[in-house]
Amino acid sequence: MKRAATGSLLGLALGDALGYPTEFDDVPSILATCGPWREMELPSPAHITDDTQMTLALSRALRTATGRGALGPKRLERPLREEFVDWYQSPENNRAPGNTCMKACYLLKTGKPWEEAGQVHSKGCGANMRVAPLGLLPGIDDDVRAGAAQLQSALTHGHTTALAASDLTAYAVRLLARGAEPMGLVGLLRSYAGWRTAPATGRHGSATCGPAPGPPRRSGSSPTAGTSAWPSWSGWRARCGTPTPRPTPAWPRGRAGSPNRRSPPACSAS
Ligand SMILES: [Mg+2]
Repeated sequence: MKRAATGSLLGLALGDALGYPTEFDDVPSILATCGPWREMELPSPAHITDDTQMTLALSRALRTATGRGALGPKRLERPLREEFVDWYQSPENNRAPGNTCMKACYLLKTGKPWEEAGQVHSKGCGANMRVAPLGLLPGIDDDVRAGAAQLQSALTHGHTTALAASDLTAYAVRLLARGAEPMGLVGLLRSYAGWRTAPATGRHGSATCGPAPGPPRRSGSSPTAGTSAWPSWSGWRARCGTPTPRPTPAWPRGRAGSPNRRSPPACSAS
């Protein structure tokens, strides 16, 4: 597992740096500029982007949370919020961060509960791109991995599809780290999704509609302080259907005078 974790995160960073020069380009323009992608070389210097930055933020939050005891939503939410806000304010956060992440992290910085900071209409890839560490974390069961994958999504991307995608990707990483064949992955994920949404499993949480259930807003000191309910995409959708978009307050886009977008390096083909 240790080697799988190292390889996965290193591969993520290398792929991120390799793809950075082509971000937002279409395939024809990438081919015209960079040639066949298998022959591309890493830019020098090789810059990671927000994808790897937020993966590392989640990794650090998991390290902090698990260092305090069993992983639970209340125990994870605080360090996750701190890491995301640190990322939001970092001078290194200038590599085309996603709008949803920037909006939500601004609201997290102002102290909003995560249920209000997370953008409930957003099912972009920003939560999925950073979830790999949860598929690599040892010592947690399927329910904890699934719940934590969805909570880390919900802090920024609150749409049920974003939660479900994060759950599925964390599970996919888990399967691959344990030696699953990539060709069989789709079937395994379909089975997993069916199991997660089966009414007989009792995974649908409380009967009331509203935001996905999650941790109370203030941590207590009881032995169960870290282990209240995780958010659940299957329960949320089962109760409420697709959530209705709600208006979000205005937010400043990054630091004053900064467009949050540095010029990417040029690609290099061999
Ligand atoms: Mg990105």
